[in-house]
Amino acid sequence: MQGELTDTRTADSALAQGELTDTRTADPVLTQAGITNTRITDHILQISDSRGNACTLITGKDRALLFDAMTGEEDLRSYVGKITDLPLTIVASHGHYDHTGGLWQFEDADLYMNSAELEIYEENCRLIPEVMRNTGGTLPEKLLLGEYEVHFQDISEGKIFPLGGITAEAVELPGHTPGSMGLLIREERIILVGDAVSPQMCLFFPESLPMETYLLTLSKVRDLPADRILGGHFTRCFPMESVDLFFKCAGIVGKKRGIAYRFLPLPRYHGTFYLYDVRSKLIGETICIIVPDGEGSCLT
Ligand SMILES: [Zn+2]
Repeated sequence: MQGELTDTRTADSALAQGELTDTRTADPVLTQAGITNTRITDHILQISDSRGNACTLITGKDRALLFDAMTGEEDLRSYVGKITDLPLTIVASHGHYDHTGGLWQFEDADLYMNSAELEIYEENCRLIPEVMRNTGGTLPEKLLLGEYEVHFQDISEGKIFPLGGITAEAVELPGHTPGSMGLLIREERIILVGDAVSPQMCLFFPESLPMETYLLTLSKVRDLPADRILGGHFTRCFPMESVDLFFKCAGIVGKKRGIAYRFLPLPRYHGTFYLYDVRSKLIGETICIIVPDGEGSCLT
């Protein structure tokens, strides 16, 4: 899950000036109600919904891999089917509903998720109806009633998915959740991070790990053979230099004034919000972090 803070994902002046050069226009042939796409590279297509969720389709010569599945409101399966008829592997970055809700459409899929996320996934399946009540969405009955079954294979550090001319390699990125997993695309020097590294970093969920773990994950990402980061709620990559800003943002926790924050889709989840930059010049995004209440001492 990702905190719903501000809608900062529209095109901005930085994009217009070409500072962020990895955004290509959506392919209209591949547009479907509620779903759109952004081509990141010839092999990587970012697919997004109207709620600001995204998943990533990596297409090789022999296989395709879908990283995450959004909330399940739209017909993601037929959308992917329009793009490729290659055998499909799915990897869930973590168990939150906005990354795994759509898995109900892929009951027979070759599906992977870190086993540390299984309980989180099952809890999120139970939470989806409440999320929809609180946010005004509608979901297919099969999903709301839980009338489907998916079977996860475990995935851990170093698992490699050869797709034909391009590979995806599992990288453990704990913090946001214990079993958060990224995929390193070495050939493209891109790391897919889900919610594990984000300009709007959420560490306030009950399953989130301490700040120290997140800082280790940031260090790990910065040292990867990658130049760009692609997150689970964004339709463009951020340069690896943005990690330095995320470090600085983490550094203000407990030093600057924090603001009480409540997660609207599930208001029982709350934390303390720290703002580092309203709009970063480097990435055109708000940079902030939300931590559990009590982490830091300058609450309003
Ligand atoms: Zn999440």
